[in-house]
Amino acid sequence: MAQGFTAEERRALIRDLRERSHADCPACGGPLSQAPVPPQPDLAYVRERIWITCAACGRSAVVDRGEIGPVKP
Ligand SMILES: [Zn+2]
Repeated sequence: MAQGFTAEERRALIRDLRERSHADCPACGGPLSQAPVPPQPDLAYVRERIWITCAACGRSAVVDRGEIGPVKP
């Protein structure tokens, strides 16, 4: 099973996505892919989430859409 990001790496990732609407892997600099996490019917309170995975090192994180915020022009 692949590792996750450290808390610090995760913060850097979210900050880059929020400020630049793009981020590279904070651990290895590899390309990141984003995929929506499907909502679970038995967890109706769960907000829209995005699953971010590094194609190079396999680290992944799930972030709330609200943590990234609206995409800036
Ligand atoms: Zn990586």
